[in-house]
Amino acid sequence: MNSFDVIVIGAGIIGSSVSYYLTKAGYSVALIDKGDIANGTSSRCDAVALICDKKPGIDTDIGYRSIQLYKELAQSFSFDFQFSTRGSLYVCETEQELEIAKDYVAQQVKAGYQMKTVNKEELPDIEKHLAKDLAGGVWTEVDSTMNPYMVCYAFVEEAKKQGLKLITHEEVKAINQSPLGAVESVQTTTQTIYTKKVVNCAGVWASKLGDLVGIDIPIKPRKGLILVTERTSKIVNQKVHEFGYMLSKFEDINYKRKVSQLVEKNNIAFTIEPTEASNYLVGGHRDFSGYGTDTNHEVMKGIAERANRFLPILKNVNCIRAYAGVRPWVVDHLPIVSEVDEVPGYFIASGHEGDGISMAPITGKMMTELISRQDTEFNIDRLKFSRYKNKKIENL
Ligand SMILES: Cc1cc2nc3c(=O)[nH]c(=O)nc-3n(C[C@H](O)[C@H](O)[C@H](O)COP(=O)(O)OP(=O)(O)OC[C@H]3O[C@@H](n4cnc5c(N)ncnc54)[C@H](O)[C@@H]3O)c2cc1C
Repeated sequence: MNSFDVIVIGAGIIGSSVSYYLTKAGYSVALIDKGDIANGTSSRCDAVALICDKKPGIDTDIGYRSIQLYKELAQSFSFDFQFSTRGSLYVCETEQELEIAKDYVAQQVKAGYQMKTVNKEELPDIEKHLAKDLAGGVWTEVDSTMNPYMVCYAFVEEAKKQGLKLITHEEVKAINQSPLGAVESVQTTTQTIYTKKVVNCAGVWASKLGDLVGIDIPIKPRKGLILVTERTSKIVNQKVHEFGYMLSKFEDINYKRKVSQLVEKNNIAFTIEPTEASNYLVGGHRDFSGYGTDTNHEVMKGIAERANRFLPILKNVNCIRAYAGVRPWVVDHLPIVSEVDEVPGYFIASGHEGDGISMAPITGKMMTELISRQDTEFNIDRLKFSRYKNKKIENL
């Protein structure tokens, strides 16, 4: 019969990871995607796993653990996903930003994480092309990079060795339930597949899959655009971003940057990272404009303006293309990794916003622990879907 212990919906980085860890634990698993592997946001993003952009506490704890898991996977997988630990640098434009950064670093160091503030004089030793008038920065040694597209393929290839059934180009159209509401089967565009457990790993589309069983999953698409430079000589050694990026990510309203109207209006904060192919990915921006991934000339101009402010050398480098992706945003900036009490057998691993690449391995591991009814490595009460129950989302 066409049946599996678990059906994972969505072959992005989260669904691929969940499938890998589930098959490793001995489950029979089908992974279904309406497109191919990495059809969604996981092929339209940057490529870093960071702790320096996480809030102190569970956000950093699982982010850090995920980087450790990546290190292990890079050693054990036969598929190379271009993993390396380069570190990352936040740059602070003003003394005020540096003061906020110092407080942030103090909290992270107190929790045991390696991170340090660097002063104005130290910046050129770390990145020599930076503008000379910056106030300082934050350097984090553990921050790592990889090719997210290849990570998805690596997880799937390894999971296939453990029996994974990959079903691509079939959209999940319905989830059939018993009279008591439990999951019984999944209906795709071409077939019915039987299972008692589904994991919704559909990223920004997770809420649509929630609608299929009558639950309201509060995930919204938050767009981000990236410029790709031509291949060029070394500009930076690692991920470099402005501290305002974190303030933009967390919508910090207590701090206001002095930026142009173009940058302000489009919520642009500078990021750059090197690729293995000697191009640079330059970003970034955040807006809520639906599911579309079209590129926008105004946003491109704003990103270039901000990038030139921090790295004047970029004025001489050509941009060869731009692309956009949509982050699966949740209001409290923590993913949903949870079962759903109202629908027995229905699980969610979605809502990672700008951290899905970072958090893919730990999410796969935690979801497998949840499904196996084992204790999870972390207390993940804050990741439960039930945290939204009876709450107005804007008040979370
Ligand atoms: C510009 C940008 C930069 C980013 N940079 C980083 C970064 O450096 N580090 C980081 O950690 N994160 C980053 N992110 C965030 C990261 O890309 C996402 O969090 C992550 O890709 C989400 O992965 P996912 O598997 O949840 O979703 P997706 O990759 O979107 O996968 C969901 C899958 O579900 C499938 N699907 C949907 N509905 C159905 C259905 N009904 N039936 C079958 N299949 C279905 C889709 O086809 C898709 O393949 C960035 C995002 C953007 C936009």
